Amino acid sequence: MTEVRVRFPPSPTGYLHIGGARTALYNWLFAKKHNGKLVLRIEDTDAERSTQASIDGIIEGLEWLGITWDEGPYFQTEFAAEHVARAHQLIRSGHAYKCFCTKEELDQKRDLAQEAKREYGYDGACRRLGAAEVAEREARGLPYVVRFKVEREAGGEVSFEDRVLGVVARSLHDIEDFVIVRSNGQPLYLLSNVVDDIRDRISHVIRGQDHLGNTAKQILLYRALGAPVPVFAHMPLTLDLNKAKISKRSHGEIVAVQFYQQRGFIPWALANFLVLLGWSPGDDREIFSREELIEAFTLERINRSNSIFNYKKDDPKFFTDPKAISINEHYLRTLPIEEVAGLVEADFKAKGLWREGYAGAERAWFLATLDLVRSRFHTIADFATLGRAYFADDFEFEEAAVRKNLLKFPELKEWLPQLADRLAALSDFTPEATEAVMRELAEELKVKPGVVINGVRTVVTGRLAGPSMFEVLTAIGQQRVVARLRRAGELFD
Ligand code: GLU
Repeated sequence: MTEVRVRFPPSPTGYLHIGGARTALYNWLFAKKHNGKLVLRIEDTDAERSTQASIDGIIEGLEWLGITWDEGPYFQTEFAAEHVARAHQLIRSGHAYKCFCTKEELDQKRDLAQEAKREYGYDGACRRLGAAEVAEREARGLPYVVRFKVEREAGGEVSFEDRVLGVVARSLHDIEDFVIVRSNGQPLYLLSNVVDDIRDRISHVIRGQDHLGNTAKQILLYRALGAPVPVFAHMPLTLDLNKAKISKRSHGEIVAVQFYQQRGFIPWALANFLVLLGWSPGDDREIFSREELIEAFTLERINRSNSIFNYKKDDPKFFTDPKAISINEHYLRTLPIEEVAGLVEADFKAKGLWREGYAGAERAWFLATLDLVRSRFHTIADFATLGRAYFADDFEFEEAAVRKNLLKFPELKEWLPQLADRLAALSDFTPEATEAVMRELAEELKVKPGVVINGVRTVVTGRLAGPSMFEVLTAIGQQRVVARLRRAGELFD
């Protein structure tokens, strides 16, 4: 194979969509697998809709996911003069022509076609203008567009072997002489995209099936420009359970990569999930390290049929596709704890929960505590919310926990401060020692140990359930446990 050069060319008109991120991932994986290069090109030709905020967001999202590129970012607008020059080269070589038809003329032809129930396509009226006529109209200052001349007279078709879809063919009769430069002199996306891909020496175009309708026209452009046609691979679209395209308008924030960043996803966990949305390894593996995925990835294993993003808007249990959550949980439980700590550090810093000691004297405690609590968490953000009691004193109490573990046993209001005194007297605050004290007290009071233990859990962590209580006490530490139990009475008011 010649050098693999692929590209990710987002239009910067919004946030980084998870579908866009998936496209970027497939290109990145393909480049890595073949020791190739990934070019990042910002297709900013839509001046009205392109924004700097979107460019920044896309780049930040790619970096967060760990997608690296080898060239760029290039900006398409910087090459506009080259795009137009190529159009004029096509005019000179007889592959394109100037079209002076006015909007009114074209509308009229379209209406006539509609009345006659004929499919409309530009009839090529301006193809027949002689050089003198063209010069005369230009001299009069008449505006014109540049159209590509589709050589359909002898019949025929454009066909290509798509690496996902197989052979795709389109009859030339179905392709009208399409516009490549507007009357205001601006090149059209179809042309710019091809000229840039030629300049960037792109070998493989891996993009969504929403672009499939452009491919035949673009192949005609490559041929007319005398450039090699790249290999195409069109990926399935991502639909919701009702088979509608997922979009911010109908699905909200869950379609933006940034949402997952804010919700505390582990970047590679989201990448792992997105890759599986439209690609499968051919067996039932679901968890892949970067290296494993680069090794396993092939274009041929991209699914032909659309992939389903399994999101039920009205199911509060799952704030996004449950598979995304379960993959994230897997990484949260199994990553080396130092890696989890790095992600928690960034989150704590953003939320004002970070203490310098966590990187210094309290490092061992910090890592052990993260390790203790992570098995029940879904995302990195849970450490600051569900796990807040370990790191701060201003945590919240779950209502159900207060009801079930405290209010049901009003005597605990007296017992818990007594327990606080006994715990304060311990010289060794180990899980064994605290367990012995709590069981002893329960026996004296003639209640099940669970009543005391669950009451303590709620007062000390705010939660109904959690890891082994005696280990929790050691993690939270004698002083804080005693202080919280002494104030337990407040929760009964
Ligand atoms: N700018 C186009 C988009 O964002 C890219 C098209 C292509 O990959 O060729 O959809």
